[in-house]
Order: sequence, then C-alpha cells, then structure tokens
Amino acid sequence: MADAENKDRILRVMLKCNRKGAVNEILLDHAGIFSEKKVPVQIHEVISPDSLEALGDFWVQVTDQGMQEHIQLHVKYLNESLRFTFSGYLIHDNILLCGSTETAAVEKAMDEIMQIYSEQLNMIRLAEKKVKLAQSAKDNLGINGLMLNDFTELNNELINKQRELSRKNKEVNLLNSELQAARDSMEMFAYSISHDLKEPVRMVNAFMGRIKEQYEDRLDDKGKRYLGFALDGSLRLGNMIDDLLHFYRATNNSKQERVDLNEILAEVKVMLRRQLRERNARIFSDQLPVIAGNAVGLKQVFQNLISNALKFVPEKTVPEINISAVENEASFELRLADNGIGIDKSHYDEIFKLFKQLEHEKMKEGSGMGLAIVRRIVNHMGGKIWLHSEKGTGTTFYISLPK
Ligand code: ADP
Repeated sequence: MADAENKDRILRVMLKCNRKGAVNEILLDHAGIFSEKKVPVQIHEVISPDSLEALGDFWVQVTDQGMQEHIQLHVKYLNESLRFTFSGYLIHDNILLCGSTETAAVEKAMDEIMQIYSEQLNMIRLAEKKVKLAQSAKDNLGINGLMLNDFTELNNELINKQRELSRKNKEVNLLNSELQAARDSMEMFAYSISHDLKEPVRMVNAFMGRIKEQYEDRLDDKGKRYLGFALDGSLRLGNMIDDLLHFYRATNNSKQERVDLNEILAEVKVMLRRQLRERNARIFSDQLPVIAGNAVGLKQVFQNLISNALKFVPEKTVPEINISAVENEASFELRLADNGIGIDKSHYDEIFKLFKQLEHEKMKEGSGMGLAIVRRIVNHMGGKIWLHSEKGTGTTFYISLPK
C-alpha cells in the first residue's frame, strides 16, 4: 500500500557529493532511497545497473562543464527501479545532485531544492564565521584549544587569581609589619652594640695603651711583640664594630634627596686629609652631577673607595685617583680609577663579600667590609657597582645610579 502511494507521488532527492561520486550528505530523500544507507555512500550503489553508463557520462559532464541538466537515470527503489530525471551542478568542488520522478516538476523542484541548499549554505557560512571568530580569539589569547565558550572559564580563573592576589597582598602587608618590627629590634641591637659592646673594647684599648706607656720597657722582645698584637687586635675589633654599624645603617637610611656629588667629594677629601697628605696623593675630578640619592650613603661610598685607592698602592707609588662621570639616558655612571696594585679578575666578585680581604692584604688596616658596605648602599639606591682592573696597573670602579 505504502509502495503504491509512493509510486503515485512525485519523488525527489537532493544529494551533496564529492567529485568522485561519494554522497556525503543527503539533503532531501522523499522516497527513502537512502534510508537504509549510511553516508558516505557511492552514488552508483543506488543507480540501477542499466543506467550506470549514463551515470558515468553525466558525471563527466558535470565535473567538466560545471553543470548538466535533465538526464534520465534509473534508481534502485525497493525491488524495482524508478526513473528519475537528474540535474547536477558543480558548486565549490561539491556536486549538487537533484533528481525528480517527474520531468515537468524538475524546474519547480529545483527552485525548492536550491532554496533549501542556499539556506544550508548560509548556515554553513555562519558556522564558519563563528569558528573563525573563536579561532582568532583562541590565537589572541595564545591558549591552545581554547574555544569561545571557554571565556567563562577564563573569567572565573581571573576572578580566582584576583582573590589570590588580594590574599597575597594581605600576606605581604603582614610581612611588612613583621619586617618593620624586625627593623626596630635591629635598631635596638645596633644601639646596644654601639654603646654596650664598644665600651669594654674602648676600655681594653685604653688599658693596653697604658701598659704600653708605663710597662713596655720592663718587657722583653717577645712580650713587646705580644703587646703589639693585642693592641692591634683590640683596635681592629673597635673598627669592626664601627664598620658593622655602618653596614647596618647603609640599608636603613633610605632618605632620598638631591645630592651634589662635588660637595660630597669635597667633604670626603676633608675627612681623609691626613691619609691624603701622608701619601702626597692627588685626586683629579671632573664636574660631577647632582643626583637623587642619600647623602650619608654616598659619602660612605666615596670615602671607602678613595681610602682603598690610597691603601692598595705600592709604597713607592704616589697615589693618583681619577674621578669622572658619564651621563646616560636614565642613569649616571661614576668612575673612580686608581693606580694601585690592581685586583685579579678571579677576585672581582668576592671582594664585595662581607669581611672579605684578599690574602696578601690582610695586614693592611681594614675589616673587609668597605666594599660590602659600598655595594649595599649602591644597590639600595637602585644602582650597580662593578670594576675593571689590571694587576700592577690599577683598578677602576664603576657605579651606575638612576637619575
Ligand atoms: P678592606 O676593609 O680590607 O679595605 P674592602 O671590602 O674595602 O675591605 O676591600 C676588600 C678587599 O678588596 C681588600 O682587602 C683588597 O684586597 C681589595 N681591594 C679593594 N679595593 C682595592 C683597590 N682599589 N685596589 C686593590 N685592591 C683593592
């Protein structure tokens, strides 16, 4: 009964195929010819054997010419074969195949079919657009495999990150206040060093001096040597305590001000006048810049570097120190060059370490803290210090400080 009904009806099919005749999509199938089949299916599988030759010609025409209309082919339908009139069109490398059991109806069917097809094409274009949009969003974010609807996920992640950030901020604030408390207790510690510890050292020093004055002539040579060592040791201890305090203050005095380096140099020259006079030392300096920094710290920097330049010069050499400055885009570069004994390249890093003195210099006065203090001060002002040296010729220290 159903078959009889189907026979009376006008049956239509519309198929999307590739050039090789594989049906990739069934857009219309009134007769249910393809209902049992699974795409992709070859078109010749549904065409009756007696029409296969015509199908071949038809296919060549469509692929060569772009279209071929009103070709009669028999289609296998249940146990019979039905005569269909087919038209084929080559569209974007696909072949659109439209067939109808009634020739007269083909035109009308084509209109309907084309309409459906163009709707489908529009939908495909829209989908393509969306995919492209998602793709470019994915590319912009640089996250592999991220699709448009992943934005929500991303957003949530962002919110979580923000929460984490504010939690971290709170932690940082807490740590800051702990740091402040630690600084305060350091301050107390420094104060106690300067007063409590220095007092007994001063006493040892003073009484050692008295022993030397009043009893030295009663000592034999060995005793005199021992006394000399003890005096030297207590003096060094006092100096080390002073230097430790300086080292601590180097990072705790963060006052920023306009500092005229010419004035700083003039003051340091006055402070070191005795050593300069003793060695007949000469200091040559360019006009130095005015920078944003900490005057106390910069004074220590100049003082330490100049007194090293005086200390580490062979006995017979008259110390000469050249101080100059170069202005860069965002920084000033200061250069302090001496004509001293020089430093081996292998020691460039270690001389900046706390209490580090090079082996052969240990007998010279000092505690090995000078350069550690200098570097701390320079770093604290956002700058850098480095050096270049030639053994036996001299050393140049470079300091770059932000403007
Ligand atoms: P110190 O208290 O011994 O001067 P520093 O930290 O200032 O300590 O210097 C560390 C070591 O670096 C010195 O003991 C010395 O060996 C070497 N040094 C520093 N400056 C110079 C220099 N201008 N020329 C040669 N050697 C130097």
